[in-house]
Amino acid sequence: MSSINGASKGAPFEFSAKNLPKKLFINNSYIAANGAQTLSVYNPKDNSLVADDVPLAGQPDVDAAVEAAEKAFPRWRKFSATARRDIMLKFASLIEEHSGALSELTRITLGAPYDTFGKFEVGLAAEAFKYNAGWIDKFVGEAVPQDGGFMQITRNEPLGVTAGIVPWNGPLGTVGLKAAPALATGNCFILKPSEKTPFAALALGPLIQAAGFPPGVFQILSGDGSTGALIASHMRIRKVSFTGSIPTGKKIQEMAARSNLKRVTLELGGKSPAVFFDDCNLDNAVSWAVDALATNTGQVCFAATRVYVQDGIYKEFVERYKAALEERAKFIGDPENENTLVGPLVDEAQFQRVTGFIERGLSQGKLLTGGNRVGDKGFYIQPTVFEGVTSDKEIFQQEIFGPVAVLNRFKTEEEVIEQANSTEYGLMAGVFTQDINKAFRVASAFDSGMVGINCVSLTFLTTPFGGSKQSGLGRECGRAALVAFTEPKTIMINMTY
Ligand code: NAD
Repeated sequence: MSSINGASKGAPFEFSAKNLPKKLFINNSYIAANGAQTLSVYNPKDNSLVADDVPLAGQPDVDAAVEAAEKAFPRWRKFSATARRDIMLKFASLIEEHSGALSELTRITLGAPYDTFGKFEVGLAAEAFKYNAGWIDKFVGEAVPQDGGFMQITRNEPLGVTAGIVPWNGPLGTVGLKAAPALATGNCFILKPSEKTPFAALALGPLIQAAGFPPGVFQILSGDGSTGALIASHMRIRKVSFTGSIPTGKKIQEMAARSNLKRVTLELGGKSPAVFFDDCNLDNAVSWAVDALATNTGQVCFAATRVYVQDGIYKEFVERYKAALEERAKFIGDPENENTLVGPLVDEAQFQRVTGFIERGLSQGKLLTGGNRVGDKGFYIQPTVFEGVTSDKEIFQQEIFGPVAVLNRFKTEEEVIEQANSTEYGLMAGVFTQDINKAFRVASAFDSGMVGINCVSLTFLTTPFGGSKQSGLGRECGRAALVAFTEPKTIMINMTY
């Protein structure tokens, strides 16, 4: 782990917990917001105030960013593929160089330990820039052979000014998934981080400059839902890529439609099933089930929080799962401590929400493990599992977004597929078995955008990421992400004269 200020070889980067970035980044300069409204952020390890003067971008600030982006777009879209690639690669290596500092800027408001989450999500942002940089000269159009004297070619055109609105649970990782394909395909990009975790994003300014992005190409506006709404309804922003909750996603789609029919990608919530058949490898099964629930204190959209175990292994699975979760709970604590594996929930509101579900859950199923707060300050909570929860219950149907799972027993493949598909979510699913035919059968029967076989709650940059049903609209990662930030243009050539 690098020191707070990193071994700064390249960009001047002086941000840290003691020197927080608190300005908007517009047109490659840090500027104060026009309005006087500010955001307050707290450290979830003890609920202490981190800052009460984070700027909230209003209409004039959003307009200024859009104007700068519009000015930058004609030149940026024409940058040679190699020039754009080199800027993206340099940006990725600057993120890596400052990984320690960036993850600390997130940790002081998210509470995730560096080794179990911070390092991963900052690394994901850097890798996303490298991966998308590699696509720049390969994401090509098509040429259709002459037909009746006409040749047709397609070009992948950038959309213009695009924006990303991201949540608090992966503040920089989600930036990588949106900004990198947007910029790789020649768009300008405006980022709005979550009001709960704004600092890593706001700190990117010096790295954006040092990488060589021209002014107006990549800008950061901190703010809350009101800033997000200004972006989603802006008449000159052509695309918004959103990650967050289903209710907000629906509002964004509505605002996009009511304004200028901007393109929308929605990465929303989940309540993902993991199905463990009698013939699975139990060590592997329990290990994935525990990680799926405990990573980032369960605040992961694709966490497998509905666990289905077949009759024959139910007793042994439950014993091992419970023991492993209780072992993990011993390492809940201060995210600054090197031995900590699980940090607190993000803030008081999330703590009230999760504990509310747990309290109500006591009458909806049998508490197998957990259920309690850890310590008396900060928002620490034990990994919690309820057994025997029927599909009509709130804790079965609703995304809790904390370390809370429901565990059910099943007899047959048909029965478990019906159960697994019985929510409005469809982000991730997992099937654990050593029978390859059954694995593929079940994988294809799940209503979900992503399925793990003998693994669950994981993702790769190389393949589409996203959900079916109400878990989302469109895909990130892989080639799909570039498609989502471009539009084909068909050019028809008359070859007959
Ligand atoms: P949220 O919907 O409350 O907020 C997400 C972002 O939207 C924030 O930046 C917020 O300021 C902004 N926002 C809020 N109201 C808005 C409005 N009216 N108009 C425009 N923007 C608005 O979600 P959250 O609590 O930050 O994140 C948790 C949710 O995100 C969970 O449901 C989780 O499953 C989901 N999530 C999904 C994925 C995925 O890829 N599918 C990944 C991470 C998180």
